[in-house]
Amino acid sequence: MGFSAQVRCNCYRDGKTKPFPMPELESHFLYSPCHPYWEMIGNEVAYELFENWFWHEVCEHSGMGHYQEISNWPEYRAFRQGLETTGWQHFPMLHRYLPETCDGSMPVDAVGKAIEELAHFREIAVFGTNFCLVDEETGNVVYQSNASQNSVIVWASNIGIEICLDNEGYFIIQRHVRRDSAAQQTDSSPHVFFRAKRFEQRLLQPELTESQLDGQVEYFNPDTEERFRCNIPVGGSPIYQRDEMKRYQQGIRFEHPRLLHVEERKIGAEQFNKVIQGLVAICEIAIAFGNPVCWC
Ligand SMILES: [Zn+2]
Repeated sequence: MGFSAQVRCNCYRDGKTKPFPMPELESHFLYSPCHPYWEMIGNEVAYELFENWFWHEVCEHSGMGHYQEISNWPEYRAFRQGLETTGWQHFPMLHRYLPETCDGSMPVDAVGKAIEELAHFREIAVFGTNFCLVDEETGNVVYQSNASQNSVIVWASNIGIEICLDNEGYFIIQRHVRRDSAAQQTDSSPHVFFRAKRFEQRLLQPELTESQLDGQVEYFNPDTEERFRCNIPVGGSPIYQRDEMKRYQQGIRFEHPRLLHVEERKIGAEQFNKVIQGLVAICEIAIAFGNPVCWC
């Protein structure tokens, strides 16, 4: 079970619920909605009556409230870690009331501030940068590499060629493995075939390239007029083939963006969108009902 939250409705308090099915157990229910279960052990008829009332009949809110699944626990822990890395001092309400385990609650007078702090987290969180290879015609990111990690995006091990992204752009290199003596030597300075911050990809054999059959491509740098030919293209999204027979005959084919450039982009809180959206949703329901958020 993942990380969830619940806000109770006010229908019971306001006298809008259907009558409790077993008046003799109502005091237990008032103590805690879970408490009547202890009194029903061994009494299946009572158990079914209560379950049906609580989940289907009691009021317009199944289970007398709103239940929200927020995320799985690893996603939630990564989000907490993101808040901690950014600095808990920016998020005092979240620090005080977000749970470490599935218990506790956040009072209704804290949820408005919590929503503001979640928005602030989106604004200020930065977790390093990515180098992104962008299709200029669609704006789509075709490849990205984390600036603090390995910059290799394609590695053709059979011919020793690597394609990488860094702050100088897109580059194609070969790491030499020389066999000019009995011992095999690795050259530490790779040969650079091509480098460009923006470039054009020209398919010289489009039919072969689109069918992933080693068609030749030419990379062209418009700033230096440098060119390089090889059979390693930059592949984009799969091409949707409406004709079922052609799809079967041709297999999966890929788009090959023509104009590309490299840009550095911040890694922000967008990776935590699911958790943030779930928390905002349950906080807004807490405000609407005027009741606390209970973690579960
Ligand atoms: Zn209700």
